[in-house]
Amino acid sequence: MTVRVRFAPSPTGYLHIGGARTAIYNYLYAKATGGKFILRVEDTDLERSKREYELKQIEDLKWLGIDYDEGPDKPGDFGPYRQSERTEIYLKHAQALVEKGLAYYDFCTDEELEAMKERAQKESRPPHYDGKWRNEQFWEEAQQKLAAGEKAAIRFKVPQKSYVLNDGVRGRVVFPEKMVGDFVLIRSSGLPVYNFCCVVDDVLMKISHVIRGEDHLTNTLRQLMIYEALGANAPEMVHVSLLIGKDRQKLSKRHGATSVTLYQEETYLPQALANYLCLLGWSHPEEKDIFTLEELISVFDLNRFSKSPAIYDMEKLKWVNGQHLRKLSNEELVAQMQTQIPEEHWYHQQTQEWKLNCMELFKEQIELYADILPHLESLKSSEIVKSEKLNDVLSWESTSQIASFLKTELSTLKEEYVTAEIVSGWMDKAKKDLGIKGKNLFMGMRVCLTGVDHGPDLKQLLPLTSIDVLRERVSQLG
Ligand code: GLU
Repeated sequence: MTVRVRFAPSPTGYLHIGGARTAIYNYLYAKATGGKFILRVEDTDLERSKREYELKQIEDLKWLGIDYDEGPDKPGDFGPYRQSERTEIYLKHAQALVEKGLAYYDFCTDEELEAMKERAQKESRPPHYDGKWRNEQFWEEAQQKLAAGEKAAIRFKVPQKSYVLNDGVRGRVVFPEKMVGDFVLIRSSGLPVYNFCCVVDDVLMKISHVIRGEDHLTNTLRQLMIYEALGANAPEMVHVSLLIGKDRQKLSKRHGATSVTLYQEETYLPQALANYLCLLGWSHPEEKDIFTLEELISVFDLNRFSKSPAIYDMEKLKWVNGQHLRKLSNEELVAQMQTQIPEEHWYHQQTQEWKLNCMELFKEQIELYADILPHLESLKSSEIVKSEKLNDVLSWESTSQIASFLKTELSTLKEEYVTAEIVSGWMDKAKKDLGIKGKNLFMGMRVCLTGVDHGPDLKQLLPLTSIDVLRERVSQLG
């Protein structure tokens, strides 16, 4: 069997991280099995669907590193791949079901349907359709009304029996009989409903596996009925667990950004977001946390999904991002920062060498590109960041001696930046001439030259700050 999987987004908004996760799993499975990955746009909700959302979702998928073999902009043998362009196909299949006696024309008005519901409620019955059009004896009358140009919905005649789903994640799921009543396949307006389109397309597009979120499990019962009615085998179903927040509630905007676009804006790396999304409900056979999609292809299978809901943890995502960021070379980081740091920022006026040194120094301390900004600010700031420890250092006699020593040293320099050698020279000279050593020496130097009581190695840090700023810092202490 050739594996054919699909991602079927509705273009009614931005690409949600849950959708992106589903897309990634489908993509990986297709790649891992040498199958095909199809993008099907489910835009039957004409009012809410927008082409701009479709384009943006595709752009976001591509940003994440996911490409597809067939889709609206990639013709294949099973198109069109936009449901709004397949209306005729759905109608034809619905009519075929009517001919087989598995569906029927329903002329009930909205008012009649409403009254039916109310009656059922009063009698404590489930609000299932019990209108006259279900009854075969009226089907001829239905044909006459139809021929006279009256509008009707096409409603599916739900078989009275239970259904069993053998789900790849949930295992055996039994849907007892009478869970649902007869449901609409095609509305009287001629527009088809999601469950019907989805099944017709999955059959016609020869989809072998449906990998999607567990929230669709409730649709599966109706879908199983439709597969059966169409005389088709249902694909393998794999319902992956829901994403929840740390408070165990369904993931929502309250928990942080839920659309891929926002992560892009917050300077996350696409490979890190894709990596993290994979870890939500799926685990690497070697328990690895950090990988690229490319690396996953050879180990991805459908047996490693977890049944429990996956907790979306922004801290972990940030950590994963930091891991990927550190894999980049200084050159790559500098190239990326070119677009990530605002154009007007003074960083852009620095030399390439300065930028490379800057990345070398700070890459261990940042998790996102945007995290570099406060570090850049600290290089320019001559503010003394007061703390108990800093005050203590300032109270030492040796620190005042270091401050005056540095003032003199700095006044003799003509260049714009110090070098690591100059900084080591100061250390040696202060030790020799002032007789200061150990903690008094290095803490005194640090506080005088940076105004902060902690930070990276001075020999790496100070060459990134202009001598003017160093002078300013020291002069405040002397
Ligand atoms: N259009 C559905 C959604 O966006 C997809 C359902 C499915 O994958 O079957 O949730």
